[in-house]
Amino acid sequence: MIKVDNLILDKLQEKIIELKEPAFRAKQIYEWVHKKNVTSFDEMKNISNKSKELYKEHFQFTKINILERYDSKLDETKKYLMVLEDENIIETVFLKYKYGNTLCISSQVGCKMGCVFCASTKKGFIRNLNVSEMLNQIYLVQKDTGERISNIVIMGTGEPLENYNNILDFFKIINDEMGQNISLRKITMSTCGVVPKIYELADLDLQITLAISLHVANQEKREQVLPIARKYNLSELKDACNYYIKKTNKRITFEYILIDGFNDNYQDAMNLCNYLDGMLCNINLIPYNSIKESDISSSTESNINKFKQIITQNGLTATVRRELGSDINAACGQLRNNFLTK
Ligand code: SAH
Repeated sequence: MIKVDNLILDKLQEKIIELKEPAFRAKQIYEWVHKKNVTSFDEMKNISNKSKELYKEHFQFTKINILERYDSKLDETKKYLMVLEDENIIETVFLKYKYGNTLCISSQVGCKMGCVFCASTKKGFIRNLNVSEMLNQIYLVQKDTGERISNIVIMGTGEPLENYNNILDFFKIINDEMGQNISLRKITMSTCGVVPKIYELADLDLQITLAISLHVANQEKREQVLPIARKYNLSELKDACNYYIKKTNKRITFEYILIDGFNDNYQDAMNLCNYLDGMLCNINLIPYNSIKESDISSSTESNINKFKQIITQNGLTATVRRELGSDINAACGQLRNNFLTK
């Protein structure tokens, strides 16, 4: 059966017309699902019982539920484990910032990118999330907290550019006036650098912010921690980023995890400055979150500050990412891993 909450409006309209129902029904259903977030046809008050019965024969709703919620005692961060129809588990994080409530969503169950420092990839890759499973992370957390999500970061488990078509449909629906109407400007999508998809995305000229997990600006060292670097080297990645900036006129965010003794010395900072020289970008310095699957540790606070100073002195802009919810399993992917090994 077709999942009604998984379809962009055009597709839903096609299906409704196939059922010999009036096209405007698609808009009504779409609003109930994506604006009012109902999860059954019975709740759709402006649809006749006869039509409801017909739709029930042809459509289903995606099953996804909150399994557990962990509340930080240090700040207002809430981490969720959600359970999918096939019993897979995903992780979603609610973060409260001055500029608004942010949700960090997952785009896949597990991840195949194999970055050595990342918990999300340690249990391998299972499958892509479908559109409704990404949307429902937002709908469920809004219902649970009673608060509106204004910003989305696609930085949970998974590589979003490997789930490209679903991500594009997700943007369409979440941005729609007939849905949550969240501006694409309030969405940041992070990738470890799937170069061909960066070109495709550039051509769409969306208003989202693209973030690149750079982490080290030396080819040999990057290959040691990010396997994707063996497929697309730093120079190919830079060309793609420059193309993206040219097409969209948007600043790219470069994420840089600071790992003690690996990528945090003066030469590393200068490599980064040279790599990004003249590019329209921001740098997001991320203190490394220790994970139990690895003995890598974060740079010290003083090294982080020194690193930041070097790059700002060289004319680049950098912010250090504040750590939220550190008492409830630091890095993304860890909750799920702990749950799976319980
Ligand atoms: N696959 C995408 C998005 C998911 S990861 C990507 O690679 O960008 C989101 C961000 O968290 C990435 O920058 C990733 O490198 C970073 N990250 C992963 N593990 C981390 C850890 N243990 N500490 C700090 N940041 C981490």
